[in-house]
Amino acid sequence: MTSVILKPHKEESLKRFHPWVFSGAISRVVLDASHKAAAPEEGELVCVRSAANEVLGVGHWQVGSIAVRILAFGEETLPTDFWLSRIRAAYKMREALGLITDSQFSTLNSQLSINNTFRLVHGEGDFLPGLIVDVYAETAVIQAHSVGMHVCRNEIAEAVLSEVPQVQNIYYKSDDTLPFKAPVEGEKTGWLTTPPQPSPQGREIEEFWSIENGLSFRIDWLRGQKTGFFIDQRENRALVERYAKDKDVLNMFCYTGGFSLYALRGGAKTVDSVDVSQKAIDLVNVNVARNFPSATNHTAVAADAFEYLSKQKEDGKTYDLIILDPPAFAKHRDAVKNALRGYQRINAKAIEMIRSGGILFTFSCSQAVDKEAFRLAVFSAAAQVGRKVRILHQLHQPQDHPINIYHPEGEYLKGLVLYVE
Ligand code: SAH
Repeated sequence: MTSVILKPHKEESLKRFHPWVFSGAISRVVLDASHKAAAPEEGELVCVRSAANEVLGVGHWQVGSIAVRILAFGEETLPTDFWLSRIRAAYKMREALGLITDSQFSTLNSQLSINNTFRLVHGEGDFLPGLIVDVYAETAVIQAHSVGMHVCRNEIAEAVLSEVPQVQNIYYKSDDTLPFKAPVEGEKTGWLTTPPQPSPQGREIEEFWSIENGLSFRIDWLRGQKTGFFIDQRENRALVERYAKDKDVLNMFCYTGGFSLYALRGGAKTVDSVDVSQKAIDLVNVNVARNFPSATNHTAVAADAFEYLSKQKEDGKTYDLIILDPPAFAKHRDAVKNALRGYQRINAKAIEMIRSGGILFTFSCSQAVDKEAFRLAVFSAAAQVGRKVRILHQLHQPQDHPINIYHPEGEYLKGLVLYVE
């Protein structure tokens, strides 16, 4: 196997289990005999050694500033049962957390406790850098963020099928997540198992439902954003349910209506769901109709958030509870300044429209924007509008999106619940 030798003293962070080797830390690469090119192939397994030739770990080689992502510390090669044992450990953790309460996807059950929707693998948080696996009832969606994970996709799929009892189908969805220029063999998107067949009841693929805390969602793995759903807001959605009673609610950036369904179940007076994507709005309507067939207090609108809020303000519209869950405004560090301005602007618009005694749930999922910076942006918004604002809750990503303590970069979702007077 190819060895990557670090410069002196560059082994320190690996000894503290941080899984990334930056290209600047590398002294030289000793290629194994199979190589014709002058460098390792992207996605190849390499052994990382210190300047004193001590084995530090084995990981996937990548082109870019992160040159290696470590999979197993202290190992020269991957143990033979590596994928099985890592996937097993990830599943056991979700089970131990009491997250999975319906392993049988047989009937639609609206009981509150039923949940068959969860993140099985959260990259570095599950010691599998570059890999995401989300489970929706009997379907798992695998997403590779590195060529190394792409190369291993079939082994990963086999391990998921073997270790997660509810999973029968595996969809692979890495079109948008693999490094843009990487030379990738094989399809970046498609079924890794035979596609789900209509069941004896004649279910079509469009009729597959996933259940989160007793609410049914149609997950569009094929055309939806990310792996099809934003599982990371599950706990925060449940908190909205607690505050929704008799409220006029605006769910801005609603995607397929996650927060809206919880607000409706919580007894909201009215719920307005807004997203710029018409496809998302169509799914919101399907989801509301499925869970609340006789609801007449929900409207869904395809519109740009900034334009919608400006128009509503002109019309004198106000709300008791607003949810703002925008897409990542900063995808990179150099975009942070603009992102903070964006957060301030959208939050100011929302705070202006909240009735006295109302509540704002506001989020940022930009990893490059930390908690303090986000809070400062929201503070600036409150000050700009001149309302009295107090923080009720500070929210974050849920337990199936764990943060590896040695990899603080894994913390990305943050939210504030504000009481506005
Ligand atoms: N709250 C959602 C997830 C939101 S993801 C949930 O619980 O599932 C962010 C959403 O913002 C996406 O659906 C995207 O289509 C939408 N979006 C992006 N830019 C927008 C804009 N300018 N105005 C309104 N919606 C926008």
